[in-house]
Amino acid sequence: MTLPKKTLAMVQTGPLKIEPRELEIPQIDADSAILKIEACGICGSDYEQFEGKLATPMPAVPGHEPLGTIAAIGDNAAKRWGVDVGDRVAVETMIACHCCSICLSGSYHLCGSRRIYSYIPLKDQHGMWGAYAQYMFLDPNSVLHKVNKDIPAEIAVIFNPLGAGFRWAVEIPETKPGDTVVIMGPGQRGLSSVIACKAAGAKTIIVTGLEADAKKLEVAKIFGAHHTIDVQNENASAKIQQYSNGGADVVVDVTSYATEPVREALGYVRPGGTIVLAGVKGFKPVEGFISDWIVLKEITIKGAIGVTTSGYKNAIDLIEKGEVPLHKMHTHNFKLTEAELAIKTLARQVEGDESIHSCLIPEF
Ligand SMILES: [Zn+2]
Ligand SMILES: [Zn+2]
Repeated sequence: MTLPKKTLAMVQTGPLKIEPRELEIPQIDADSAILKIEACGICGSDYEQFEGKLATPMPAVPGHEPLGTIAAIGDNAAKRWGVDVGDRVAVETMIACHCCSICLSGSYHLCGSRRIYSYIPLKDQHGMWGAYAQYMFLDPNSVLHKVNKDIPAEIAVIFNPLGAGFRWAVEIPETKPGDTVVIMGPGQRGLSSVIACKAAGAKTIIVTGLEADAKKLEVAKIFGAHHTIDVQNENASAKIQQYSNGGADVVVDVTSYATEPVREALGYVRPGGTIVLAGVKGFKPVEGFISDWIVLKEITIKGAIGVTTSGYKNAIDLIEKGEVPLHKMHTHNFKLTEAELAIKTLARQVEGDESIHSCLIPEF
């Protein structure tokens, strides 16, 4: 593969400002690589970054869900990662040190000196730290996973939300065959949680959403949800009690901003059950949160941020098997130069249009 001298990249220069720029592709050393981007997934974090809410460095190239092929690679990197030029890989978002006590305990996604693709400033060396681009730099501490090249890029790139589904809804709460699971929020991560719970053998899967989520709740059923609840027009509490026979084994909250689900989850879970909180709320207090329920019902509450190797591996295995109609949640392919439109479509700011899973597909 011959590398061009420059790459087109969409650069976020300030809150709500993204513009195309050309960046020079650097020479790589023995330990790093250059990825030719095939697709970059878009999620709620992209919107938060775009808005400036995440206080991420600017200017920077956004895009933290990269799928691509290795365009150039150093000898050490090829050996370490077991990949070569032409291989298709999914790239993990976090660049951890892999040496500190947190990394060595297995929680490398919480590494104190970790960096995150797309949150690294443009002025840091070549600036190619995000996947809103034709090419991206692969740091020596990256974690890569090979992906079968026969899968369409927009489906293969679902490895990212699906990895979250496996980690947040199965691994962390230890969801087992026969369990009843309530998933709050039917966005791409909620739908991914449905797919993961189904794969794990959950017996009853219940998904809650808003009136505006009707289409997404339909997709949840395609992926194996047994019941869906519109929390604005139905009595969610009563329905969940009925469907779960007295409370769910596992409740997963993937909603963002809204704090009601955190309060409600205490009522949905069975005594001795587990709640996973995976949606951030903008540092708001939860009104009406009665901690006594945690004591009286011996509820376990766990937080979930990010995805680690096991979640990604499960996701890629499922994608490669091709048994789940993942295209049902993929709604939009956008060009690189349409990055802003892609973000706004996800955020319901484009009238008459809304995405579930979407991605940027660069042109060459
Ligand atoms: Zn994301
Ligand atoms: Zn570390």
